[in-house]
Amino acid sequence: MIRPIIHDPLFLALPSEAAGEGDRQIITDLRDTLMANRDRCVGMAANMIGERKRIIVFFNGPFPMVMVNPRITGKSGEYETEEGCLSLSGVRKTKRWKEISVSFQDENFQMRKGSFSGFPAQIIQHECDHCDGILI
Ligand SMILES: [Zn+2]
Repeated sequence: MIRPIIHDPLFLALPSEAAGEGDRQIITDLRDTLMANRDRCVGMAANMIGERKRIIVFFNGPFPMVMVNPRITGKSGEYETEEGCLSLSGVRKTKRWKEISVSFQDENFQMRKGSFSGFPAQIIQHECDHCDGILI
């Protein structure tokens, strides 16, 4: 189900809680909402649809990829860039890492590890920040 986007900075500043198997509907809704906004958005965290759970979904190539309880375990190559956010207006400067390692659960709650670089790595960092209540 496509859900409305939350813009309230006070709600978005609250950290999210660990997600579990009872949160499958949130995963579905988050993916549906990202697909509905794909012309202007490359990734979303669950709090952007009002759910304070650590779930993100983003485009890794043409298909949306789900990460449940993502955790960045390694990073290298800091750089400065500008980003926008569907929940905010305008673009803002931020610092990111070129390469990251991430541990997460997939949408079937299986533990995974992955390495990402470039644009997907940037999106993952932006969405993981959302899980911690951090806005750009
Ligand atoms: Zn954002």
